[in-house]
Amino acid sequence: MNSILGSAERIVVKIGSSLLTDQETGKLNRNWLQAMVEDIARLRARGQEVLIVSSGAISLGRRALKLPAGALLLEESQAAAAVGQISLAHAFQEMLSAYGHTCAQILVTLEDTEERRRYLNARSTMNTLLKLGAIPVVNENDTVATSEIRYGDNDRLAARVSSMISADCLVLLSDIDGLYTAPPSEPGATHIAEVSEITPAIEAMAGGAASEFSRGGMKTKLIAAGIAIESGTNMLIANGRAMHPIKALEDGARCTLFKARTTPVAARKRWISGGLKTSGSFTIDAGAARALAQGRSLLPAGVTATDGQFERGDAVSVLDTDGIEIARGLSAYSSEDALRIMGHNSREIEVLLGYSGRSEMIHRDDLVLKKG
Ligand code: GLU
Repeated sequence: MNSILGSAERIVVKIGSSLLTDQETGKLNRNWLQAMVEDIARLRARGQEVLIVSSGAISLGRRALKLPAGALLLEESQAAAAVGQISLAHAFQEMLSAYGHTCAQILVTLEDTEERRRYLNARSTMNTLLKLGAIPVVNENDTVATSEIRYGDNDRLAARVSSMISADCLVLLSDIDGLYTAPPSEPGATHIAEVSEITPAIEAMAGGAASEFSRGGMKTKLIAAGIAIESGTNMLIANGRAMHPIKALEDGARCTLFKARTTPVAARKRWISGGLKTSGSFTIDAGAARALAQGRSLLPAGVTATDGQFERGDAVSVLDTDGIEIARGLSAYSSEDALRIMGHNSREIEVLLGYSGRSEMIHRDDLVLKKG
């Protein structure tokens, strides 16, 4: 058993277009997908959470629209994606439901993963679906994404989604079983089993400019690996060509492991305490400060003052009764709503605001205590 895959609680599986669709006919590889879904059902049966990032919308749609072979215009690929995405989602739904699983479609754009408020919304939807036992099937929203603001490849998208949901393992199913020191067709090219840092030497192995624009080449996989390992996600590049590729991996099939350099929780906390500029603060009472020190969330009841102008998801400082910053976190409420609910029991939120928001002012996952 591949121990990384076996011990992961939350797994993201990225499936490329070349695996999903028959290269000759452009049709969906139903038998392959059927076997893949069986693998996923087994992961779920073991209690592991699974999110699928699936490509294939454009390649399925172009066939249905009888578009010519070769490069498509942006509007043609957008049209193809609109058509192909339905068949893709339908196939997943049909096959997953045969195993009693509910699948959910999520189409994201670059801004959904890069802009913090949208990021937090997308993250909480995905987390909710996973908690409810559904299997999210994610793709880029190619129909609205324009060339300047799109991922274009699902490798990087899958890495950002893995980071967003703090997945412990990302499996990129490819047409090759991992990274080689040189193109595998060259004599002397050797397979690399484990990478712990994306050094220039490793980057050089992914090939030069020729593959720069190719979707899902080794280059984008290395960028994905960089995102994954800095976010605490182990990433595997494995060959998905054969039937039951996940089962093969579990049984020890060769792959390249990009080893996480941190844990998902530590990575997220570093992001909160590091880069983000605070736009306001909460002053809290001594009881709340003790709760925070014990690793608990900040509840509205413990907040005695709210300063500054901020929106939900913005970073704020948490001050003790002496005005000293003891923590930083992402506020679950705007400053306006926070002013209304501070000092109140979480049960009163709905009455005070007219909607049922989160019970915490700052959830403990979004909170970092200052040292000392
Ligand atoms: N999002 C594209 C699609 O579904 C695929 C991107 C990729 O191949 O990585 O067709």
